[in-house]
Amino acid sequence: MVDKIQLLPDHVANQIAAGEVVQRPASVVKELIENAIDAQSSAITLIVKDAGKTLIQITDNGIGMSTTDARLCFERHATSKIKKAEDLFNLHTKGFRGEALASIAAIAHVELKTKQAEDELGTHITIEGSKVQSQEPAVLPQGTTILVKNLFYNIPARRNFLKSNTVEMRHIIDEFHRVALAHPDVEFNLIHNENSLFNLPATNLRQRIIHIFGKRTDEKLVPVSEETPIVKISGFIIKPEYGKKSRGEQFFFVNNRFVKNSYLHHAVTAAFEGLIKSDVHPGYFIFLEVFPESIDINIHPTKTEVKFEDEHAIYAMLRASIKHSLGQFNIAPVLDFQHKKEFDTPYDYSKKQDVNAPIIEVDRNFNPFQSEFKTVSQSKSFKSGNFKTETANWEALYTDSVPDDKHLDDRDDAPGLGFYEKTEENKVNRSLQFQNKYILAPLKNGLVLIHQHFAHQRILYEELLKNITVKEALSQQLLFPLNLYFSKPDVEVIQKVREQLENIGFIFLEITGEKVVISGIPVMLVESQISKLLEELIRDIKEDVPEESFGLNDMLAKSMAKNLAVKTGVSLNITEQEDMINRLFACKEPTVSPFNKPTFRIVSLDEFDKKFI
Ligand code: ADP
Ligand code: MG
Repeated sequence: MVDKIQLLPDHVANQIAAGEVVQRPASVVKELIENAIDAQSSAITLIVKDAGKTLIQITDNGIGMSTTDARLCFERHATSKIKKAEDLFNLHTKGFRGEALASIAAIAHVELKTKQAEDELGTHITIEGSKVQSQEPAVLPQGTTILVKNLFYNIPARRNFLKSNTVEMRHIIDEFHRVALAHPDVEFNLIHNENSLFNLPATNLRQRIIHIFGKRTDEKLVPVSEETPIVKISGFIIKPEYGKKSRGEQFFFVNNRFVKNSYLHHAVTAAFEGLIKSDVHPGYFIFLEVFPESIDINIHPTKTEVKFEDEHAIYAMLRASIKHSLGQFNIAPVLDFQHKKEFDTPYDYSKKQDVNAPIIEVDRNFNPFQSEFKTVSQSKSFKSGNFKTETANWEALYTDSVPDDKHLDDRDDAPGLGFYEKTEENKVNRSLQFQNKYILAPLKNGLVLIHQHFAHQRILYEELLKNITVKEALSQQLLFPLNLYFSKPDVEVIQKVREQLENIGFIFLEITGEKVVISGIPVMLVESQISKLLEELIRDIKEDVPEESFGLNDMLAKSMAKNLAVKTGVSLNITEQEDMINRLFACKEPTVSPFNKPTFRIVSLDEFDKKFI
């Protein structure tokens, strides 16, 4: 018998590994810049010749390496960044595989010059095709310079497959942008064939974006910011009107690492829906921060893919926070709508860990003998419930008629009270219902017209979605359990969304065969609505079965919001009108209904004035 298996010599193994890590000059650029960042550098200079085919040189002012490390770093699996497998779940560095330098040294002429701050002398090593050619002490500044010359010199096939200099340079610039955007506090320089392409001083993210993409970018940026216990979202989106025909500036960073993720991209696109044409791509620079243990970035050797534990929740929050920013941006110039921190969390994730005891809200203005407060049965759905009324500086829009600050301070400072709590005198003429369909209210410089049905859909949709995801909703016990009968398949649909329905306050005693027995319902509902509501829900779900649970939550909230929202033709008293206004503008996306219908319009004073010229 002849033994056929033999271990590959190191330089062959390294060459094979290099195939995975180094596809083109840009891959070298990426790995070397990332190493410089990991070495805590504050200034990094990249010099390339012939799009990196002849030379890639990176100089940093980071921590440098000892003589031993300078030698060791070219060994495969030589890394200072992880020691044990568990470290993989708590990564704070870009690199961790210890493969990059070994791979690069296997397929190029490499020169390393490095010195640590505490050492008198540095180390200068040259290495070719994994073989060390020379090593000597040298007088060097602190930091590291690596030169990578003649990439793929020993693999002609790979070298021949490189694209034109223009294309390869494009790839290098892409990589350069990605790292430079992730680290605005680090100075970066890029020089190609002796021309300085980018000279980026250390600054903040906004300025970094402007330095890279040009001064005119400034006016295009809209900030995005959201913080929840599972993800912190920050960065900028490009205003919809500046979207591009070709995929332009689209950047996701997870824990400061550039990633590609089509699911998250979809969340952004969904947030822009209705605002840009379908053939135009939105631009964004979005940073997500999550617990390192909640992601897996190890599924791809060049580490641009990422997998999240909480993908659906992150999708929902990303979409909501972008919509929120877009919404604010849309109405901000006219309404002077101040951003309030309390509304920053899409579906109240921030309260998830610290749940307060439910507070029963009492409408202290309620007077059963005062005809004005007689409630139409339908409007119960937005009067009660555990959704707090927030005014969101809406008051500021009413300048003159609003009582002075002192007066405001006199108010009961319990959160969630709308301005309708103020004196009777102020209440008059604050808003007006028109045709039992629109609510009109004066603004500083115009008039806002709210569509009561669409606005209420928006309010209920957000409230329901919040309850479904946060599971905080209150139930009211029914005196007698409600027995409902549906077809077998319909009961199965109820079963499918049982959890979501329970989250919003339903209590099921039984879901079997053709029967559903309910003993508790959400506080926002009345018993007589239940049967119809569930029927409509079943119909909606059957018509458009969403695949993911997020889609299902969304559909459920939409379906119920549609059915529960106060209809046109229903008269609303002044309290209800103002409650509607307050709650609409406390919404994440007050501008559109869940079905993309406008919820309000503003007619400016100018427009009025023009009518009288
Ligand atoms: P990894 O980054 O995955 O650890 P590399 O092959 O890229 O693997 O680098 C190997 C090691 O060399 C690093 O862990 C680090 O200790 C050292 N190193 C590489 N580049 C630099 C640098 N620019 N400054 C200081 N140390 C470096
Ligand atoms: Mg590395």
